[in-house]
Amino acid sequence: MSWPMRPGAAALLAALSDPDRGFDAVVSGSYERAFFGNQFSLVAPLFAAAGVQLWMPEVGGALDPEVDELDELMALLGILAKREVIRSRHRAKNAMSAQVRTQGRWVGGRVPYGYRLVDAGPHPNKADARWGRRAHKFDIDPDTAPIVEWIFASRREGHSVARITRALNDAGTLCPSAVDRESNPHRSGTAWIVRTVQEILGNPVYTGRMVWNRQRTDRVLVDPCNPGLGHREVTRWNNPEDWVLSERPAHPALVSETDFVAVQGLRATRRDARHTYLLTAILRCALCDRAFEGHWVHETAGYRCRHGHTSAKTTDYKRPKNTYLPEKRITAKLPLLHRLLTAAEPATGDTRATASAATSKPSTATPEEVIDYLRIHGLELAYDPRTRTLEIIGKPAARITL
Ligand SMILES: [Zn+2]
Repeated sequence: MSWPMRPGAAALLAALSDPDRGFDAVVSGSYERAFFGNQFSLVAPLFAAAGVQLWMPEVGGALDPEVDELDELMALLGILAKREVIRSRHRAKNAMSAQVRTQGRWVGGRVPYGYRLVDAGPHPNKADARWGRRAHKFDIDPDTAPIVEWIFASRREGHSVARITRALNDAGTLCPSAVDRESNPHRSGTAWIVRTVQEILGNPVYTGRMVWNRQRTDRVLVDPCNPGLGHREVTRWNNPEDWVLSERPAHPALVSETDFVAVQGLRATRRDARHTYLLTAILRCALCDRAFEGHWVHETAGYRCRHGHTSAKTTDYKRPKNTYLPEKRITAKLPLLHRLLTAAEPATGDTRATASAATSKPSTATPEEVIDYLRIHGLELAYDPRTRTLEIIGKPAARITL
């Protein structure tokens, strides 16, 4: 994370410009923890400008900004710091994977809806146990477990996921994010949605086995056209072949393995459930103002708007024709759209720390980065089938013809 985004570091940067700050040198005890990647080169000039010395064990005292080799040494230390972070992440991941597989151990993460965390005796790691740490396992949550069982049973009977979702809302059942606000700050917590029910139906944890690594945390640029702002973390789904399951049951099951597998089979017949659509919920139809829905045709992802028509309604021959858009046609143009947007609105941000990064060269953002950018900034795209134009809603300068 960049300095301006770290609370302590941001406070230090702010203090530099205060003449009454009461210090004239800063000691960095650990380069790895202070500067990641190229951060040193962004921050050091600010210290020099404020007349505050930086002390580091790596150079045996105060840094002399006049020394030429310093930049190279600091760049090298930055690379080493990055490598150390990646290496320790790998070590931790291998260890956790083994603990889950062979011991069915809970290694942290969200407790699935239907279960609660209970004490499971002293921590299996002797060093941890000596510190008084305890192990934990999942047990049935008497309030929510019957709902999970009902969801699996209903799906097994052939009810659609949409119908199950509706029934849960009609009955006023509290949705997972409402039950556990603390672990779900990113969810609105108001109602069940289809995706929540799908996630429950697809989670093998309910067969009694411990599951880990279904999701991963990726680091993406906060702003693709302003790399100096650093990265933020986003949670993404891993492929099922990367999931780690315990070899033996680790907690009480809420569905039999036979039923769980049968329900996955039901999902597989609806091919859409397995496909991912990059632009879900950010692509609207300008003709009827509805969200485009993911639509899988000819082995490729695309989006469809039926302008409010559903197969449950009688056919109205006057209604506009369905609109269909292959995803590739949109993603190919996203970098261009992003350039139009950023040309119209120069990127703002912490100009002190990003002065060297905020050059005005054209953005080289990938389609995925542009989509992340739109999501972070709450922007949506509108496609107008009459004019075949795609634009960022509220940003008339960012409009292109597909
Ligand atoms: Zn429409």
